[in-house]
Amino acid sequence: MHCLETTHLFHRYSNGDIALEDINLQVPEGAIYGLLGPNGAGKTTTLRLVLGLLRKQQGVISIFGKPFDTHRVEILRGVGSLIESPSLYDHLTATENLALLQKIYRVTKTRIGEVLALVGLADTGGKKVSQFSLGMKQRLSIAIAMLHRPALLILDEPTNGLDPHGMVEIRDLLMKLNREDGITIVISSHLLSEIARLVTHVGIVCKGRMLFQGTLGVLLQQRRQAGAVGLCTSDDERALRILSADVPDAHIVDGKIVMPAMSNERIASINRRLVGEGVGVHALGALGGDLEAIFMDMVGG
Ligand code: ATP
Repeated sequence: MHCLETTHLFHRYSNGDIALEDINLQVPEGAIYGLLGPNGAGKTTTLRLVLGLLRKQQGVISIFGKPFDTHRVEILRGVGSLIESPSLYDHLTATENLALLQKIYRVTKTRIGEVLALVGLADTGGKKVSQFSLGMKQRLSIAIAMLHRPALLILDEPTNGLDPHGMVEIRDLLMKLNREDGITIVISSHLLSEIARLVTHVGIVCKGRMLFQGTLGVLLQQRRQAGAVGLCTSDDERALRILSADVPDAHIVDGKIVMPAMSNERIASINRRLVGEGVGVHALGALGGDLEAIFMDMVGG
């Protein structure tokens, strides 16, 4: 069963901007699903619609196998979320922040200690949130999202602005929640490399449309079949100029030249040509393993 599914989701903002054209999300139960796309792709709009924070215009949303329209309250009891910057009280401790919400969510007081332990903030004692690092604040926000024991956690760019150490902390935390507590997680990001080691599934969106959805394995496999060729040289700009007549589709992505599929003879002839023109060729071969390049290539750099 899909934990979260959308069918033909469309959204137009009041200024006339079409944010979503046709988004068909399929998030399997137990997955860590990465919703990927460049800035303005429609990730936040999708997640806000799914959480009922924006009024749905067209399409169907179902969560836990039930239509959102008719089971909204029941569904939201099982969903935890972190959309945009979390609202934390800076002058209060982690426990005090959670205590305010514990009353609203009507969970037991012992749950506060449980979620603090879950996110690794059990030792913060009397420290005020104003003295927390950004990573600690994000973990506290996730603790808040987890307070009512949701089965589905929806996080909009939770690693935004974090240093590499903070990113690893959040990644480890989400993996733990998924593995140990069986929570399905949807996480958005504009960087595939940031979440590639975390997610089981990805949905790649660009300009309000879904370009790919499936496991990372399938994405890599499709790409290998497509046979794109990568080229690293001593001077990529010059190499691109030399190849422009022969390979007009060649373009630079993430520090390497990406070319469409071609025969081995043609690859060898490109190599000879570049070397003959005095351009050093460091690497030349089928793309496949470089996920970020695949992603950048799909969304058009
Ligand atoms: P980002 O990573 O920058 O947050 P995103 O993938 O989350 O990007 P959205 O915020 O969903 O993208 O935006 C999708 C499109 O909708 C963009 O073209 C954006 O300019 C437009 N948009 C978003 N919010 C509004 C709004 N309140 N009014 C009008 N247009 C909007």
